[in-house]
Amino acid sequence: MSDNKYDVIVIGSGPGGYVAAIRAAQLGLKTACVEKWVSDDGKKVVNGGTCLNVGCIPSKALLDSSHKYHDAHADFEKHGISTGKLKLDVPKMLERKDKVVAQMSGGIGGLFKANKVASITGKGKLLAGKKVEVTTASGDVTVYEADNVILASGSVPINIPVAPVDPADNNIIVDSTGALEFSEVPKTLGIIGAGVIGLELGSVWSRVGSEVVCLEAMDSFLSIMDQQIAKESEKIFRKQGLDIRLSCRVTGTKIKGKKVDVIYLDKEGNEQTQTFDKLIVCVGRRPYTEGLLAEDSGVEMDERGSVFVDENCATNVPGVWAVGDIVRGPMLAHKASEEGVIVAERIAGQKAMMNYDVIPNVIYTYPEVASVGQTEEQLKSAGEEYKVGTFPFLAVGRAVAADSQDGMVKLISHAKTDRILGCHIVGPSASDLVQQIAIAMEFGSTAEDIGMTVFGHPTFSEAVKEAALAVNGHAIHMPNRKRKK
Ligand code: FAD
Ligand code: NAD
Repeated sequence: MSDNKYDVIVIGSGPGGYVAAIRAAQLGLKTACVEKWVSDDGKKVVNGGTCLNVGCIPSKALLDSSHKYHDAHADFEKHGISTGKLKLDVPKMLERKDKVVAQMSGGIGGLFKANKVASITGKGKLLAGKKVEVTTASGDVTVYEADNVILASGSVPINIPVAPVDPADNNIIVDSTGALEFSEVPKTLGIIGAGVIGLELGSVWSRVGSEVVCLEAMDSFLSIMDQQIAKESEKIFRKQGLDIRLSCRVTGTKIKGKKVDVIYLDKEGNEQTQTFDKLIVCVGRRPYTEGLLAEDSGVEMDERGSVFVDENCATNVPGVWAVGDIVRGPMLAHKASEEGVIVAERIAGQKAMMNYDVIPNVIYTYPEVASVGQTEEQLKSAGEEYKVGTFPFLAVGRAVAADSQDGMVKLISHAKTDRILGCHIVGPSASDLVQQIAIAMEFGSTAEDIGMTVFGHPTFSEAVKEAALAVNGHAIHMPNRKRKK
């Protein structure tokens, strides 16, 4: 095989692309991964995509730092710990975050070497006949050939004309990437969009002292989540000081010196103006396909600008596949990675399939909000018969001991078969707890199965067992409730 010919070429090294490349190489396929992102000095390729560099990992690094600060500031005293006057060094907090990112992103180069994935730096474009043209930053062009091409070019933030993100304006109006780089704590922080990013980054900066206002267009909070859990979460976040304003329509912004005026129509339709030190625009992301496909590549797009794929991530062109944020489905790192694995295995002749019904979804606030499976609203509108069990963390010993009593677990099972249909949690370690139910759902478990499983004591996960018992009316520690015989 010539040097420029591969079994598999992957375009994009985010969690969709780099995982696909590693899995393909593990299966004995000669594999290359093309990435256009380079370090500021232009010398090194930056692998890992949005997730590792400006998404999941840096946001969680800041989340943990801000949580520690908040604990020391607001909670240590209760435990008999005094610290004296606290000081936050924001540049140092950012430096730690950057180190975490460098470690994770750099690690992918090591994984590529270990698995013999060729790393190609430059912008990849799919040409007709499964050829991939790669253009480097200095303009050199090389054309490679492959039996299979996997498109994994990810997504970028959606911009809205009423609040343009322009670094020339001193980074006052920023997207999620800019919001990971504030060099000091903004005294006042506006957020357009109370979705996942708005809540995660809003709570980071709120915990270290910003007054945060979230302007959300919808009239219900977290409208796609289970509404009982969304309402409980909203209550908790408001109590923490997030000022969440629903049914707001931003109509304009004006940069004034080092601040920004945000003009919006409130719930009643009255025009309001509020001034902020910084404004984060986080109203969703869109697939990134600029320059990815030559006109004659033959790959079809869908009406939302995503690359059109079937249930196995195959495009309409045989041998061309697409995974992650550029295709339909939730824009989540683990969904992208799983699709990458499935595609690599299919290319190798296996019959791998993805179960889109069981994809956990987590909002990394404190406490976390996590879900898997169907919401009560979805089941109602589908006319499904179901049973619900809920259990509050305030009745869980470990949660009380940890002073993490806010929130609840909600488990939903089929009314007749008792098979678990969904689980929705707001509370401590919700991300890990919901994974237990994801596994149970993969095995077709019932609520009774979970109720009959021995859970360690004292653990947060006892709330999951109790919620499962509650589905059939038998929760042991249920406060203020009658139990079924
Ligand atoms: P990406 O990660 O976007 O990677 C695409 C890669 O392709 C990039 O490196 C890009 O440079 C490269 N590329 C694009 N075009 C070309 C081309 N033509 N040639 C060569 N290279 C190209 N998800 C979670 O599951 N959990 C979280 O906690 C979470 N937190 C997030 C926090 C933030 C602030 C943001 C913004 C996102 C977060 N996400 C999270 C979403 C997650 O980052 C994405 O779903 C995930 O990164 C998608 O992976 P991907 O491989 O499809 O694309
Ligand atoms: P989102 O879809 O989660 O939230 C966007 C919010 O903005 C919605 O509530 C929407 O109603 C609102 N909105 C839209 N237009 C508006 C407008 N003009 N004015 C006011 N509000 C408006 O999107 P996001 O927070 O930008 O995150 C993008 C994606 O990134 C997420 O959907 C998710 O897939 C991914 N992500 C995941 C995680 C995680 O898994 N923990 C974290 C961050 C991002």
